[in-house]
Amino acid sequence: MAAGMLRLRAGVIALVTTPAIIEGGIIIENGRILAVGLWNDIVSQPYAGPTLELPDSILLPGFVNAHTHMELSIFKDAVPYNGSFADWLGRLRALRRNWEGDMGDVLAKACRESLAAGVTTVGDISWRHRAWRHLKSSPLRKIAFAEIFGLENDPSEKRDMLQTWIDETLSDDLLQPGVSPHAPYTVGRPLFEAVAQLARQHQLPLMTHLSETREEFEFLHFGRGPIFDDLRDIHFIPDDFTPPGCDPVDYFLSLNLGEQPFLLAHVNYITTAQINELAKTQHSVVYCPRSHQFFRHPPHPFRDMLAAGINVCLGTDSLASNSTLSILDEIRFLHQEYPDIPPDTLLQMATINGARALNLDHLTGSLEPGKAADLIALPLNSSPHVWPQEILESISQPTHVFIKGEKV
Ligand SMILES: [Zn+2]
Repeated sequence: MAAGMLRLRAGVIALVTTPAIIEGGIIIENGRILAVGLWNDIVSQPYAGPTLELPDSILLPGFVNAHTHMELSIFKDAVPYNGSFADWLGRLRALRRNWEGDMGDVLAKACRESLAAGVTTVGDISWRHRAWRHLKSSPLRKIAFAEIFGLENDPSEKRDMLQTWIDETLSDDLLQPGVSPHAPYTVGRPLFEAVAQLARQHQLPLMTHLSETREEFEFLHFGRGPIFDDLRDIHFIPDDFTPPGCDPVDYFLSLNLGEQPFLLAHVNYITTAQINELAKTQHSVVYCPRSHQFFRHPPHPFRDMLAAGINVCLGTDSLASNSTLSILDEIRFLHQEYPDIPPDTLLQMATINGARALNLDHLTGSLEPGKAADLIALPLNSSPHVWPQEILESISQPTHVFIKGEKV
């Protein structure tokens, strides 16, 4: 028997980038998908390894949670939303400052919960890049984004700090560093551009929060409002600060970021003209449906974005504004809210679009020969021909989760 061989047989295989296969099979070798197709074809290929029979299962690529802050899991239900984002963020910051606990335990639990929910890849942001050490031992595939803040005109100190964090990160084939200038109201033009340059040098993925709240507009246009007051109170705003005098999206699009694509978290407030401008770039948008609902934003324009050709993926955001770290829960929520969205679209947003946004689509996000065998099995209780309903309308959870062909 060849090393690292496994053959799976399933009632349905949802490949995501091409139509699903009813009665399908997959051969995995050394963590990679060697072949996928109709079971009759798979079983006729020479093969001498074990077979896992899952006739009552749907196999699909593992989910990609493209935007989360797992370190904030400790603050689940801790900060209710009272209508002001600045106030919410301020209270969360105060809690974080005073929290004393074991970050390793927190992150290990968040990783276990993610895996149990069928998430096999995460884009995780942490303050001062403190999460990667704790994430490293988890079998999850992850980009550990180092978050940076700074409105000062000279970005060199923050840039060097970020460089040190990146140099310290012990990457492996499941862990890569990324960089995340926090948001237009906490990162000035010089630091934004310096971070993009650093990302270009090291080929690192980039993520930022953009146009998440209406309160950003007042800050960026006029240098006032609740976010300004909150940041002034903690002495974050330099004396010589001048606001850019425009919308968050226009501000972002005016930055000199080179060719590096960003993953833009939220983008809740955007005009049609700005959507069309964004569609001309390589940037992706990550929509966090249940966190969006938590903050009571008006409906998200993700369908207009998709129609314009923008790559829109999904995130849970943190447990401070959500109940689980499950992308399956996000697509079930979206299916309830928008029953007319084709299940294929939801599944793509939950898998390949996230992989693309994190620049991991050569490895994961769909079931194709050559990609890593990051896949999950969900129960199939009804006819295989109604498998999308089974995924979106049941409450079942994954029975098997594989990353690189290893059961986790
Ligand atoms: Zn976030």
